[in-house]
Amino acid sequence: MPGTCGLACEVCEFPARGICPVGGCVAGTDEKAPEKLEKFKAAFGHSCAVLECAIKNKVDYCFRCEKFPCDVHYQQELYSKKLLDMIRGMKEKK
Ligand code: SF4
Ligand code: SF4
Repeated sequence: MPGTCGLACEVCEFPARGICPVGGCVAGTDEKAPEKLEKFKAAFGHSCAVLECAIKNKVDYCFRCEKFPCDVHYQQELYSKKLLDMIRGMKEKK
């Protein structure tokens, strides 16, 4: 399954090889999400704002959130501003 932000954890080899400190991400509504967030904090010394927001707002995947692309994503730089602007434009046309 993809991570909350949409990264495809199932096709990344890092969790299987034990390289990913989070052990692969989950949906923000998954019961393991808070545990994953704590692992992220322990590994990187700061929170994942995306996963934290999704847990708080009970969102499974950001692409399904009505606020996407939100300020959190513009600040995180997981996706380029160009891509986020393009997605925003597509949603505004609907
Ligand atoms: S921990 Fe954060 S950046 Fe990593 S996959 Fe999950 S939501 Fe995305
Ligand atoms: S507000 Fe942004 S970071 Fe939070 S769940 Fe929605 S899309 Fe994800």
